[in-house]
Amino acid sequence: MNTPLALAYGDGIGPEIMKATLEILEAAGAALEYYPLEMGEEVYLAGHKSGISPGAWETLKTVRTLLKAPITTPQGGGYKSLDVTLRKTLGLYANVRPCRAYAPFVQTFHPTMDLVIVRENEEDLYAGIEHRQSDEVVQCLKLISRPGCERIVRYAFEYARANGRKKVTCLTKDNIMKLTDGLFRATFEEMGKEYPDLEQEHQIIDIGTARVAAKPERYDVIVTLNLYGDILSDVAAEVAGSVGLAGSANIGPSFALFEAIHGSAPDIAGQNIANPSGLLLAAVQMLVHLGQNATAERVHNAWLCTLEAGIHTADVYQEGVSVQKVGTDAFARAVIENLGGLPIQLAPVSYPPLPPLKIAEPPVRPRAVKELVGVDIFLQWDDSGRDANTLARHLKALEAPLTLEMVTNRGVKVWPDGLPDTMVSDHWRCRFKGSGPLEHRDVVSLLERFLGSGLDFVKSEHLYTFDGVAGFSLGQGQ
Ligand code: NAD
Repeated sequence: MNTPLALAYGDGIGPEIMKATLEILEAAGAALEYYPLEMGEEVYLAGHKSGISPGAWETLKTVRTLLKAPITTPQGGGYKSLDVTLRKTLGLYANVRPCRAYAPFVQTFHPTMDLVIVRENEEDLYAGIEHRQSDEVVQCLKLISRPGCERIVRYAFEYARANGRKKVTCLTKDNIMKLTDGLFRATFEEMGKEYPDLEQEHQIIDIGTARVAAKPERYDVIVTLNLYGDILSDVAAEVAGSVGLAGSANIGPSFALFEAIHGSAPDIAGQNIANPSGLLLAAVQMLVHLGQNATAERVHNAWLCTLEAGIHTADVYQEGVSVQKVGTDAFARAVIENLGGLPIQLAPVSYPPLPPLKIAEPPVRPRAVKELVGVDIFLQWDDSGRDANTLARHLKALEAPLTLEMVTNRGVKVWPDGLPDTMVSDHWRCRFKGSGPLEHRDVVSLLERFLGSGLDFVKSEHLYTFDGVAGFSLGQGQ
């Protein structure tokens, strides 16, 4: 029986590489029934701000797997990223991107590299919650949830175990973001105890990225947060040889989306010279996801044979290594001719049938004892030469019964004991604490005192403890 598959043909080179990919899938005997969707630039320009037509949403409700060619996001404001919308609406929390070298057929300094990046796909700065709070300061909220961390970390460990991988590396910036990235790392370390068969390590994302660029062979499976994973996976794909060759899987509990990692390449669209490999390898991941492992194996090995035969599209063509420069259609025909073959120099792939990854829903934890202990009030303030001591005097007049503990500017403590050299913007965070637990009405009455003071408060953030542990960071220099 054929499995239903939604298709987005995309923009730019999208239709060309989709046609090539489907021809190969058909020749390999993939059991699929296609449902083309209206999605992309034309849909954006027709007034749908997400780039997805209402009919496409209806189809996706029943056809839960999507193969998507790259889309052109129109220039200018007001258009929401189609990818982020799809990932979040369909609950595609895991972005899985294998990055493998194909030396000597594709040039790379790291011929033995073979790593997989498992990137959290829904949270982090991609919540898209941004505000302008003063003339000078804008903010973007980084939201990290415990269930979100648990799902992606569990996925990475389960993926590693099921695919015979040996090591999982967690990359975060928890030395700076102790609560958000700290939660991700703590979840990794806690869940790691259930996987003693896997080697585990944590690195700070900056040195981790540098090492992925310089020594990618030392990595196996990497799990990381959304933004870091976004950047790192392009670094890794390029280090492996070319971003043009990488595919990615976006997996959720009920939906899955597969795509190339490159864009719609409008500069070469319509010329029959685009490399369809990124979309084809995404389709291989899709076949494995759908349980059509034998077909996935046939297609992937035929593709490796084609690379090995030196039949290359222009983007990976190298004088002295390549034998024939071909266009998109001819490349697809060459892959089709190689169906059934195994590569000799490159390691053949095998996709033994595996039970689907079982990612249990994160458990509901008992609620912590939560106590309100203070409030950060953010101000736009531009008076008195932006002198923090003057601001603190105004605030001290309003504080009782709470106490002004500190004032920071862009996170750095400027009162008490600030340094005159610290650059200050017009955006101030003023921390008030109580001598014991507070109630909401204490915060409201403080804000009411602000109301009469003429100070322009732009936001407030409650300070809580959870089971006695502070749920807020200190000011830098506090
Ligand atoms: P791009 O990846 O489209 O192109 C970058 C360069 O790589 C270009 O020179 C292009 O010709 C080349 N290239 C890309 N894919 C190739 C292929 N398969 N074969 C041969 N050469 C290839 O990136 P861009 O130019 O920054 O973006 C173009 C458009 O794509 C933008 O509208 C962007 O928003 C969109 N985009 C979409 C996705 C997606 O749908 N997932 C991802 C990234 C970018």
